[in-house]
Amino acid sequence: CGIVGVLGNHEVAPILVEALKRLEYRGYDSAGIATVNQGRLDRRRAVGKLVNLSDLLVHEPLAGKSGIGHTRWATHGAATVTNAHPHRSGPVAVVHNGIIENFRELRAELAEAGIAAETETDTETVALLARRFMDQGMAPREAARATLARLEGAFALLFLFDGEEDLMIAARKGSPLAIGHGDGEMFVGSDAIALAPMTDRITYLEEGDHAFVTREGVEIFDAGGRRANRDLTRIRVDQ
Ligand code: GLU
Repeated sequence: CGIVGVLGNHEVAPILVEALKRLEYRGYDSAGIATVNQGRLDRRRAVGKLVNLSDLLVHEPLAGKSGIGHTRWATHGAATVTNAHPHRSGPVAVVHNGIIENFRELRAELAEAGIAAETETDTETVALLARRFMDQGMAPREAARATLARLEGAFALLFLFDGEEDLMIAARKGSPLAIGHGDGEMFVGSDAIALAPMTDRITYLEEGDHAFVTREGVEIFDAGGRRANRDLTRIRVDQ
């Protein structure tokens, strides 16, 4: 299973699929990508190998220079298109590796507020929560923070938002995430190998960190919400 994200200067769908291929070694049962194009969030998902997603993208292309991608190893909910990531609710799309341990409580709380889950996954709860916070008037950064504060478990998460072509929000709790620095482009990946064709300049998030990523760079915050400095390292990956 793996996560990738790109705020790029080129069409991002093929770049996302290529990066996901580099994470295939981790195993997966389904895959998907979401992009923001002319302010509009959209997604494509397919069960099985990445070639199925590539084939789908031939028939139903996904334009845009900002996007996130995911290979799923199902823990909650069968390997179906509906359960595949990215999960979306309103203006929020999210990809996730790991497990949200308290998703049943969160789901019950959302149900009480009249918000019904449409999938069997723990991940969808994250999108539903973030959407609810945005419906209450929060901006994406604030909504993501409020959402993260409610989550228990071990996970890596990446958010993308409708109307926001220059923002991804990444969070690490128990599952590694690498931020890749390009020239006017920024990347996120489960590991540096996924990002090797794009950049060798990597910042690893530390445990409990979350990050606001734009094409300008990355702002990282520690588990206490304080601005954090994390080293930028040059990674050598044999391609
Ligand atoms: N728990 C999530 C799911 O089952 C994420 C699984 C993964 O790490 O790929 O959808």
